[in-house]
Amino acid sequence: MSVSNVSGCGKLYVVATPIGNLADMTFRAVEVLKKVDLVAAEDTRHVKMLLQHYGITNKLVSLHQHNEDKAALVLLEKLREGQSIALVSDAGTPLLSDPGMPLVKMVKEAGLDVVPIPGACALITALSAAGLPVTQFSFEGFLPRTSSARKAFFSERLQAKKTWIFYESCHRILATLQDMAEILPLDRQIVIARELTKLHETIVKTSLGDALLLVTQNDNMRKGEFVVIVDGAIEDK
Ligand code: SAM
Repeated sequence: MSVSNVSGCGKLYVVATPIGNLADMTFRAVEVLKKVDLVAAEDTRHVKMLLQHYGITNKLVSLHQHNEDKAALVLLEKLREGQSIALVSDAGTPLLSDPGMPLVKMVKEAGLDVVPIPGACALITALSAAGLPVTQFSFEGFLPRTSSARKAFFSERLQAKKTWIFYESCHRILATLQDMAEILPLDRQIVIARELTKLHETIVKTSLGDALLLVTQNDNMRKGEFVVIVDGAIEDK
């Protein structure tokens, strides 16, 4: 594995890590995390546990939402000096609702190599087992935090024909489904994918009305991390 390019600059590796099950690390991800000079991580304590699990003792620097512009400049300088860097987030693929975009943009604009090391990603994992159309879909990230903004968002998506998908937290899953049920038809098919790859993994495909009932009545369905997938609107005949 070459960690520097012809100009002597280092490469930036964007490395996906597991979203729950540590065994979902790829061989290539382990190899890269061992060989680079530096690992830039969203939460260095969190990533330390992952590295320890794979016997990786590499140098960690922090790159998170609040320091990323400044940290990216420092990391770009290190790449220019010939150091190779791996970028990881707490879980899944960096940049997908996670830090990393300013660094990747900066490195590419500087003409240096950015190498993706693919692996787990919650939205793709959920889509692969959802049983809803996936030929085309739109990923919406996290929804707005206020109820009125969420309802406005759902109104805009009401007639969308493609499957759409978003990330949600345990704190808002119930309120989000309640808002959705005020705007979308209750018979719209949705998938709630919870705690993917973990002990309590649950993937439920049902109508919006039944999903709301389930999440309201079952405490466990309000725990953990969530991906929600919504079927597109049926085309008018
Ligand atoms: N970059 C990550 C990825 O590739 O999936 C996503 C990071 S984002 C900050 C975290 C959100 O992803 C969670 O709030 C949840 O919506 C979703 N997520 C992450 N892991 C998950 C899991 N194991 N099961 C369900 N959803 C998960």
